[in-house]
Amino acid sequence: MNSKIWLSSPHMGGGELKYIHEAFEANWVAPLGPNVDGFEHDLENFLNENVKVAALSAGTAALHLALVECGVEHGDEVICQSMTFSASANPIVYQGAKPVFVDSEKDTWNMCPEALQQAIEDRISKGKKPKAIIIVHLYGMPAKMDEISAIAAKYDIPIIEDAAEALGSRYKGKTCGTFGRFGVLSFNGNKIITTSGGGALVCHSEEDKVKTVFLSTQARDNAPHYQHSHIGYNYRMSNITAGIGRGQMEVLKDRVDARRKVHEFYVELFREIDGVEVLSETGPDFYSNHWLSAILVNKEITGKTREDLRLAFLEDNIESRPLWKPMHMQPVFADAPYYGDKVAEHLFENGLCLPSGSNLKEEEKERIAKIVKKIF
Ligand SMILES: *Cc1c(COP(=O)(O)O)cnc(C)c1O
Repeated sequence: MNSKIWLSSPHMGGGELKYIHEAFEANWVAPLGPNVDGFEHDLENFLNENVKVAALSAGTAALHLALVECGVEHGDEVICQSMTFSASANPIVYQGAKPVFVDSEKDTWNMCPEALQQAIEDRISKGKKPKAIIIVHLYGMPAKMDEISAIAAKYDIPIIEDAAEALGSRYKGKTCGTFGRFGVLSFNGNKIITTSGGGALVCHSEEDKVKTVFLSTQARDNAPHYQHSHIGYNYRMSNITAGIGRGQMEVLKDRVDARRKVHEFYVELFREIDGVEVLSETGPDFYSNHWLSAILVNKEITGKTREDLRLAFLEDNIESRPLWKPMHMQPVFADAPYYGDKVAEHLFENGLCLPSGSNLKEEEKERIAKIVKKIF
């Protein structure tokens, strides 16, 4: 059996252990310490835009706290991009609120501004103004932020920007994660950099960061005993985990370059193949980290389906995966409203994510190319 080629596997930079050793030597083995401060500082420098970052246990935790801080409560409605991973939508339900799903557009595969506008107006006409809008930069591709931000501003609804897949991406030169009222980052094992598991909430004021840290550390009031006036969470990142993050920040730029090279490899590979489209930037406003390279297979033109390719890869021990199954098609969200024109459904039926690791080797690319040429 050939060795396994992964869709996206952890890629250590070499500097991580230094920070972990420091933490052990100083006995900072807790959800606070110099690595947590250092990692937040590194992220703030990288993101720019004067943001304040709170390091948390997961991207999902960051989404949950963003909703709490936007005042989302039981019975409220929250708009969410349908084409995404379930972690974008689940925290809406943690709050006892209801998700309203919005379709994608064909250029970026992210939230369609027209469908968003339609959804907001229809919800308002039904007597319920949405409390927040969760947008996603899928696979690292920035969403159409100008159009989306203008609509959000018109109706005065805060944007929660799920940039879990888009650290290092930019829209009109501005880093993804810094557009929304809050931005969400993830450092799960498969993301562009990893801390094994972890996330962060990007805030725009020191006050919001302080509040986020307070909520993520069990919401203790300032008193010698344990006193609580709010419901808190145990969502803070540990000093050990943050040490991995500091090491990974040293190589983030290299990781973005490497993923973008993998994307170029696929663009070249499919250039001669009619009926296969690689998700790519549609103009200079967009700069994707290309966390995952993804394709759309046109059945009519190629005579093949994405399943034909996925199964051929599988036989050669190469991992590939259909695109995220849209949330409005998920059994658990069957009752949720959905606005759009079935673009997300089309993407799901015909799309495939390809091995995209920043550690993908030349001989692995050759194995991938061989299967692609065999199928098409
Ligand atoms: C990974 C991911 C998350 C969740 O992040 P975790 O750190 O795994 O909790 C949220 N949204 C999207 C789009 C993701 O890809």
